[in-house]
Amino acid sequence: MIDAARRIAGPRAVTTDPADIAPWATDWRGRYHGATPAILSPANVEEVAAIVVQARALGVALVPQGGNTSMVGGATPPADGSALILSTRRLRAIRAIDPDARQAVAEAGVILAELHAAAGETGMRFPLTLGAKGSATIGGLVSTNAGGTQVLRFGTMRRLVAGVEAVLPDGTIHQGLSPLRKDNRGYDLNQLMIGAEGTLGIVTAAALSLVPAIATRAVAWAGVGSPADALALLRRLEAQGDAVESFEIMPGSSLALAVAHLPGARAPLAGSHGWHVLVEATSSDPAAPLEPMLERILADAIGDGLVADAVIAASEAQAEAFWRLRDSLSAAERGAGPASQHDISVPVAAMPGFMVEAAAAIEAAFPGTHASGFGHLGDGNVHFHVRAPAGMSAQQWYADHAPAATRMVHDLVVAAGGSISAEHGIGQMKIDELQRLGPPARLAAMRAIKSALDPQGLFNPGKLVKLAPDGAAT
Ligand code: FAD
Repeated sequence: MIDAARRIAGPRAVTTDPADIAPWATDWRGRYHGATPAILSPANVEEVAAIVVQARALGVALVPQGGNTSMVGGATPPADGSALILSTRRLRAIRAIDPDARQAVAEAGVILAELHAAAGETGMRFPLTLGAKGSATIGGLVSTNAGGTQVLRFGTMRRLVAGVEAVLPDGTIHQGLSPLRKDNRGYDLNQLMIGAEGTLGIVTAAALSLVPAIATRAVAWAGVGSPADALALLRRLEAQGDAVESFEIMPGSSLALAVAHLPGARAPLAGSHGWHVLVEATSSDPAAPLEPMLERILADAIGDGLVADAVIAASEAQAEAFWRLRDSLSAAERGAGPASQHDISVPVAAMPGFMVEAAAAIEAAFPGTHASGFGHLGDGNVHFHVRAPAGMSAQQWYADHAPAATRMVHDLVVAAGGSISAEHGIGQMKIDELQRLGPPARLAAMRAIKSALDPQGLFNPGKLVKLAPDGAAT
């Protein structure tokens, strides 16, 4: 297969030096360690297709990989060295940016920050961002149906992808880049590729929706008594129009960790509050009165006892300082001791109750633990962390307690009508839990689709869809 790849795409397209491979065979968090004899990096869709045809003929598995920022071990090859990594690192062209059509066409290996910059030069923006924007690629974002902090207003990738070009497991090229507003020719292959985690095709390019660039923004920080009060505040803000694009909640305990973690950081508000909310409103109209709007809503909310205290960032630097606190929560939590992190969603209206009740239930079932959620309240999606009792070693926590704690969190999520993966995907980390918790009809349909498109199980084996030992989708 390696020789064939060299013939198809040239020697530059094949990396076999173990030192060059090593960083790409382990996941971002260092939790999964794979092995592979080679990374293949074709430079165009035809080379990808030819490699796939050859891999199919030889029965060689391929693991599509973009920036390798998966939070669920999605791009890490199996540990037995049986698969090759198919990297999109040389699919780097932004083929077009059309401000009039409000659309960009970017190849799979384009890094999100590069797309942001290129769109910005034309007065537009791609309204999806996340902490890994300096490494995550368009192909990875499409394949994980990524979310982030602007989903509230603009949706996940599923809403922002207008077209997909992909190589299917039989080597045929799905040409779905044409931005048709209406197309009723049956099953939507573009949508099937989104969130498929590389198990159904290799995305080589995507047409993406753009919006006008931000001309003004206002960022506020509020202290509230409960997640229910936070959600009530969000509803008041939403009643003013669609300017609010981020609404992030965090418990006071997490904020304290973030302040301690970040050198020179200060809490935005004096006094202690049970919960904190970060709100960002933006507009493409430089004269949009965003600050007065936030001021009025927050003042009314304080008057009504919904909000205890609030501050509006007086400068871009202060706004950035607010966001730094929010963005450092995960790292700060990790620094406080071993913790199991869960990317979960429940219906938005149920989230305030879930955050409080699930945390209490977990802490009761696992004495000494600290459970709390933070993140995208307006999307019904929080990162729910269960921290080990003080003094417990990481080894003891992960070996003896974490699996049961995770199962309990997931059971509570399912009981609340939620999802065990809100935005990070299933990968290898959650494959057993997805299998355990179903739902059965969805799992059966996913297996049937996987078997039909990839009967040999060669595309990203061991991820998302559970495979039998013989490779067939079970
Ligand atoms: P990879 O990690 O390389 O791959 C991810 C999955 O997609 C794998 O299953 C892989 O096989 C598949 N894949 C990659 N490229 C292709 C392709 N071209 N065709 C087919 N399959 C492909 N995610 C969120 O949704 N929201 C967040 O807020 C968020 N924040 C993050 C913050 C940090 C600090 C980090 C490290 C990660 C974060 N993530 C977040 C997770 C991650 O960034 C996303 O899942 C991202 O979409 C992965 O992109 P990638 O290019 O790194 O893909």
